[in-house]
This record gives sequence, structure tokens and C-alpha cells, in this order.
Amino acid sequence: MSKMRFFALQELANRRPMEVAYPSEQLSDYYGIHVFDRRKMQEYLPKEAYRAVIDAIEQGTPINREMADMIANGMKHWAKTFHVTHYTHWFQPLTDGTAEKHDSFIELSDEPGGGVIERFSGKLLVQQEPDASSFPNGGIRNTFEARGYTAWDVSSPAFIVDSTLCIPTIFISYTGEALDYKTPLLKALAAVDRAATDVCRLFLPEVNRVYANLGWEQEYFLVDTALYRARPDLCLTGRTLMGHSSAKDQQLDDHYFGSIPSRVTAFMKELELECHKLGIPVKTRHNEVAPNQFELAPIFEDVNLANDHNQLVMDLMKRIAARHHFTVLLHEKPFKGVNGSGKHCNWSLATDTGVNLFSPARTEQGNMLFLTFIVNVLMMVYKNQDLLRASIVSAGNSHRLGANEAPPAILSIFLGRHLSHMLDELANRLSEARLTPDEKHALQLGISRIPAILQDNTDRNRTSPFAFTGNRFEFRAAGASANCAACMIVINAAMAHQLKAFRQAVDASIKEGMDKEEAIYK
Ligand code: ADP
Ligand code: MG
Repeated sequence: MSKMRFFALQELANRRPMEVAYPSEQLSDYYGIHVFDRRKMQEYLPKEAYRAVIDAIEQGTPINREMADMIANGMKHWAKTFHVTHYTHWFQPLTDGTAEKHDSFIELSDEPGGGVIERFSGKLLVQQEPDASSFPNGGIRNTFEARGYTAWDVSSPAFIVDSTLCIPTIFISYTGEALDYKTPLLKALAAVDRAATDVCRLFLPEVNRVYANLGWEQEYFLVDTALYRARPDLCLTGRTLMGHSSAKDQQLDDHYFGSIPSRVTAFMKELELECHKLGIPVKTRHNEVAPNQFELAPIFEDVNLANDHNQLVMDLMKRIAARHHFTVLLHEKPFKGVNGSGKHCNWSLATDTGVNLFSPARTEQGNMLFLTFIVNVLMMVYKNQDLLRASIVSAGNSHRLGANEAPPAILSIFLGRHLSHMLDELANRLSEARLTPDEKHALQLGISRIPAILQDNTDRNRTSPFAFTGNRFEFRAAGASANCAACMIVINAAMAHQLKAFRQAVDASIKEGMDKEEAIYK
């Protein structure tokens, strides 16, 4: 091994940052060029086909066969402008990676002696049947039950990678069971939408939908490929298994937010460029705490899209790193004794009228809404700790949790000292059977003061697994290699369950004659 390391170090002497050329000075010129987004749909689809897709996205209206044909045809025409030859249903089996089986547009012509033509029909766009026998299914089916279906997820736009048109899909069994992350994620998002809308309407009757947002922060290590190959333990398991730590064990902790090495900057540039072409709004990049550890974060998006984007980013990272003679490590704890890599999931709920339900407001009514949602999150985490824990567990992540900056493996929630104090006070006051008008007034005053309290006291707890960070919750327990869908399924489904119970309790109190406000306090 020492000989391999010697040669690896020799290689390193010749490494230079790779050149990365931008297609244009304006980001907006190339942002999303590899995505079949609304603008491209308008350009490539007949009006009625465009309407059909938008209705499907916004209202869940099914797309009929004739429309599907038009959409597939438009998609193919757009893809051909990038010399795309193949298409694939892109899905997320339970392997913590994505799966794709490429088919070319080639078809034999019906005409005798007609040769071949290129065609992409609505049928192929909407549904396919890959062999599913080799994907994990949690033991729900026998090995001979090989059939699996992929079905188009209209809410996540098609995109191009490596001359292939990728269509995001769900993946289900012949009998309808989910075999992937996306199916339960979409169900959880629909459930939280319904339940949260019902609760919002106690305050804001005009709300019609509630969206869940996700902003992930992807941490990773970069190791020069020559050094990586000199370590069979890293190659085989993603982490080191031998060697020893440095003498005093304090070395190399000075890396956080330091200047980024130029070879790494070149890698980041190319990664960002490819992300932007794919409509992935990556924004933040920085050194992380450990040597050669970095982080990339986008602007938050709707959970389903944000998660597809994170899956795609993890894949892109590996490919682009190879061009820069780097290997990306997404293992949660590749090196003993230094920070591991997590993937913080920033989560919030927002209404279709533009209200962030985890943001304190300026009015008392707005803050009642805020408190209602905060208290329900508290209850959701309290009642579902085991499930939340299960949603982030993996061998790699279990090595990470509880060490260095990573949160402990026991799930708790952190609201900040002042908000906690205020909720304690509320609870004490409310424990008295009925509020006198004076008490009610005092409560209202306290509630109106929330935004000021939070602005003046932005204490941050870096190691809480589930922290309130001013206008969202940051779930920090997820590991770097995970599919965020796993924890997003649990958080959103559990939240839906909790909000439903809350609304039922409020309705029951109102039915017994309590006024609405008091029922909500109760
Ligand atoms: P940190 O200081 O925690 O490292 P970053 O800037 O790295 O923060 O990442 C914060 C993430 O939180 C970004 O992805 C950002 O878009 C996301 N975020 C900000 N506001 C919200 C929100 N209301 N809901 C969900 N995610 C959000
Ligand atoms: Mg960050």
C-alpha cells in the first residue's frame, strides 16, 4: 500500500485545476436549458396539450391518450434539438440511488421497405414496465413476481443528461404497492396539503392549498482519485478502516469557510454550471469543517422537485468529479475522528396565498396561525420519534450521529430559548380552566410580541436534530448519501396525521359551545 501511495503522490504533483468555460456571461441565458419546463412546453406543444399538462400539474387531472401523444411528440422534438437519441423513465428504487433503462427512439416503419423512423408515443411517455425483480421491496413480494410499472410524474419536469431524455416517474408493483421513494412521498405531500389546508381555514378561509418546501444542504468529501485508489478500504466500503489519527488529534480543524482550493473551485464551477442547465437552483458553496469536506446548497423548492434535484446532483457530482481526477465520498463517516457528512433538510409549509406557516407574523391572528403550526410540529416530533429515527438510519449514518458536530441519535426538537419560554408561559396560563378577559388580553399581548422576540434572539443550536431556524425547521439527522424522500415521507405524513387530529379536536370543542379562538388555545 505504501508503494501505491508513493505513486499517487507523484500523480498529484502534476494536477492542475481544469478549465471550465461558461456558455454565456448571463446565468439566465443557460439556466434550465436542459429542462422541458413551462416555457419550452409553450413553444413545443399545441395549446390544448399545454393546457392538459398544466391542469395535470395543478389539479391532478388525468391526461388522455391523444394529449399524451402530442406531449410526447413535442418533448421528442425539443430533445432532438440537443441531439438526444434515447429516453428513459427515471425512478428512485429503494437503493439510495436512481435507476434508468434507456431506449432509443428507433422504431421500424410500417411501410414495406420503409426502414426505421424515430418515434416517441404518449404510451411510452406515460407508463412502462421494466423488470423489477432485482430491486429491493422490503419482502412484500416473491422473486417470481417480476413486474413493476413506472408512471410519469407530471409535477417534475423531464430533463436531459448525457444525450438522454429523462422522465421522472413513480415505480409501483403489478398490484399497486409502492416500490420506490417517490410514490409514498407524493402521497405524504398530498396528505399534508389536505390536513394543513383544513387547519389554515380556521384562520384564513381563502387558502386552497398548502405546499411543503425542502432546501437540502449536501455535504461531501473530495479525495484525489489517485489517493483514493491507493486505499482499498475507501474503494470497497466508502470509508477508511485502517491507519491511525495524528499525534495530538487537533490538526486540520481550521478548514471551516476557508478559501477553496483552485482545483476544487474548478470542480464546483462545472457542477454548478451543469446544475443550472438542469434548472437546479444551487446557490451556496463552502468548505466544511473537515479537510477536503465541502457543501453545496440550492434555493429551496417544492419537496418533490427538490428531492429529484438532490438525487440528480449526487449523480452529477460523481461524474463531474471524475473529470477533475477527484472521487466524491458521500459516506456519512468516511474518516474516523473528523466530521462526517450530513444532509440537513430544511422544511417548511406555505400556503398558495404566500404565507409561510412557520414564519411569525405582524398581527395577533397571524401569530395564532404560526403558533398553531409550531405546536403541532412539536407534537408530531414528540409522538413520532421512532419513525423519524427510522427514516434516517443507515450503517454509515449511525457512525456519524452523536460525534463531532453531528446531532445525537436521540431525536428532540429545539425552538430557541425565548420561544420555548413563551410556550411554557402560554401552557401555564391555559392550564387554568377558563380565561378571564384580563388573562386573555395578556395572552394576546404576548402573542403579538413574537416577531420582535425572535428577531432579537436568534440563538442557533448547531447540533439539535430538529431545530427551528426562524421560518423553517432544519432536520439535521439525515445522512449525506440518503434519499431525502425517506425523512420527507415521514415528516409530512406524520404532520398530516397530527394536523388532522388537531382540527378534529378544535371542531369538537366548538361543537360543545366553545368559541373558536378558545378552542384553538385549548
Ligand atoms: P446553514 O446556515 O444552515 O448552513 P444554508 O444557507 O447552507 O444554511 O442552507 C439553508 C437552506 O435552507 C437553503 O437550501 C435554503 O434555500 C433553505 N431555506 C431557506 N428558507 C426556507 C424555507 N422557508 N423552507 C425551506 N427551506 C428554506
Ligand atoms: Mg449550510
